[in-house]
Amino acid sequence: MKCCPSCFKDGIAKELVTTLSSPGNGLCDVCGSKTEIFLEITPESELSEQFADLLSVFSAVKDCRESYETLFDAFCGTWNIFDSISRDAFERLLKSMFPANQRIAKLLKSRVALDPSPDPKCNFALNFFGEKDWCEFAQEIKHIHRYHATIVRRDVLRDLFNALELVVTSGGSRWFRARRWNNKSISDLSVNELKEPSEKEAKGGRMSPEGVRCLYISNNIEGAMAEIRASKHDDIAIMEMSPSRDLKILDLSRIDRISPFDETVDCRKLASNLINLNQIKDALVKPMRSTDDAIEYVPTQYIADFARSIGFDGIGYHSVLHERNGLPTYNIASFLGFDEAFICESISMYNVKNIHLDVGRFCTK
Ligand SMILES: [Zn+2]
Repeated sequence: MKCCPSCFKDGIAKELVTTLSSPGNGLCDVCGSKTEIFLEITPESELSEQFADLLSVFSAVKDCRESYETLFDAFCGTWNIFDSISRDAFERLLKSMFPANQRIAKLLKSRVALDPSPDPKCNFALNFFGEKDWCEFAQEIKHIHRYHATIVRRDVLRDLFNALELVVTSGGSRWFRARRWNNKSISDLSVNELKEPSEKEAKGGRMSPEGVRCLYISNNIEGAMAEIRASKHDDIAIMEMSPSRDLKILDLSRIDRISPFDETVDCRKLASNLINLNQIKDALVKPMRSTDDAIEYVPTQYIADFARSIGFDGIGYHSVLHERNGLPTYNIASFLGFDEAFICESISMYNVKNIHLDVGRFCTK
């Protein structure tokens, strides 16, 4: 049996299969697409070893409310790695990879539960919030324990965050920061006016609480303007800057797409926290309005503070306020101030000519 790179949507899996494949024209046995390279599925291949890891988080169960009817349902509901695959092709793939494996043969014949904990007495052994999920944890830090809410498994959260590291290298990339400049003199424009505010002036934001300095920057000019909610006819000062040193960024835009094929990722730790990671993603993309209660930012501020404590220089995330050509603006909340990590490329003035309004009526009285 043969598979091909197009079988997979997971980037690392696709890359692995491409590397291991040999030339050959025809239709793929798994996804059915026309391909010019194939990987012959064998029990000892690197791909089979990876699949053994992915399958290690499942157990065969007789009857359990939180179980799946088939291994195919459990696998696809947990690991979002295939582009498209039928149940029949999935089962043939596993039989080619594990022809003599009794455990996997049993998984293919019974109901299956996600059971990633190494400790049979504790389902939550690897869950970084213990018995709570992220939503419960967020409620706790917003309304009960602001300073003593605990991450039960800091090591697990740290390991998963390390898989999201993005290095923004010095030089090359350009970043933008905007400030409203209505009725102010152009001669007063300076780096000091456009860099992060002082401790006294630092307001709370999605990634930093009041009083903590944080440099918010965007990867395009319009995105930077959207972040300060620029309005029609506003004069806006824009500072274009580039990093003067490499920045170790926690890329939260990929938080719900950590690859189980990443060699630094432990599949059990990832599987134990998939719900948490998806809930954190939802919190990050929740649109906030200027009139919203600042308390809503506390959970994401907590995540940013944790990232800072384990050595990241900043957090990267997609803007919920602006996109260009269908791609959301990418923002960085840098814990390193402008003077520590950036150089100014230029400062320019813009006037907002128009703002595109796209409205939807949701109520009529
Ligand atoms: Zn294929």
